[in-house]
Amino acid sequence: MPGRGRWLAWCWGSFAVSVAVTAVVVAAGFSAASLFVEPLAQLVVFATLPVIRHLRLAGLRGDGRYRTVPAPALSAAMLAVAGPSGVREVTVRVGQVGGFARCFRAGGRTVVLVHERLPVVPEAARFFLAHEAAHLARYDVFRRPAALMTALVCLFDLGAVWPPALIPGVVAVVAVVAVVNRAGERDCDRLAVRWVGLAAAERAFSVVQRAYRRSVRSLFVHPTPAQRLAACRISAEA
Ligand SMILES: [Zn+2]
Repeated sequence: MPGRGRWLAWCWGSFAVSVAVTAVVVAAGFSAASLFVEPLAQLVVFATLPVIRHLRLAGLRGDGRYRTVPAPALSAAMLAVAGPSGVREVTVRVGQVGGFARCFRAGGRTVVLVHERLPVVPEAARFFLAHEAAHLARYDVFRRPAALMTALVCLFDLGAVWPPALIPGVVAVVAVVAVVNRAGERDCDRLAVRWVGLAAAERAFSVVQRAYRRSVRSLFVHPTPAQRLAACRISAEA
């Protein structure tokens, strides 16, 4: 499914799941109809997030720690793969970036932050930037909050049915967030391999492995570099 279709499916699909779960809890008599305030709050968050994303993007475009560089070939390559999901403009900024490259999106405008030392290893850079383009193409900036909010609504509904279930419910939500994030990262790697080839992935992960420090955040977001490279090799063979 093209990126924009996926975005709409996640938006309305996640809202529909929240409404359906809440309706079951209310219909079964575990709670009053006021419980529907939860899926309504989810809609309010969906409406607010684009404003926050536009403010963040404007801040990044004016951030003095980065400098904008003309990169027509990179912009064209990113637009070619992310255009179907509504990306219309790619601004490339270079500086000290946490990680190797990061992308931010608000509507059709994007800012790609590239670490200033990344061009030293151009083949690895191609893979990292293809991975970021995959995030744009998948509309991950929306999918992640959609999944999180639906998980939270289900958690509160569960609390209405049986309050002691809240603690294992929190653990389950954390697990769902980790599973969704890690699956998304693997999918971006798979798309990047398809676009720039396995050799670029091999080079990129040799760079990542040298800088890799296992952290709590990495547990929730990224599989280890070895796991990611193994998945890339499997997808390249498929
Ligand atoms: Zn990623």
